[in-house]
Amino acid sequence: MAREIIQLQCTECKNKNYSTTKNKRKHPSRVETKKYCPFDRRHTLHREVK
Ligand SMILES: [Zn+2]
Repeated sequence: MAREIIQLQCTECKNKNYSTTKNKRKHPSRVETKKYCPFDRRHTLHREVK
């Protein structure tokens, strides 16, 4: 299985708050997910970055 470690960056403050793995075959495009950002102190959209 081609699992890859990615980082999730907050689209609001640009902090990299989370790292996770994803399956490249299941998710060939960029992952976007709503996560809690401790800097904004609320849920924001987080986007995959390398
Ligand atoms: Zn943020």
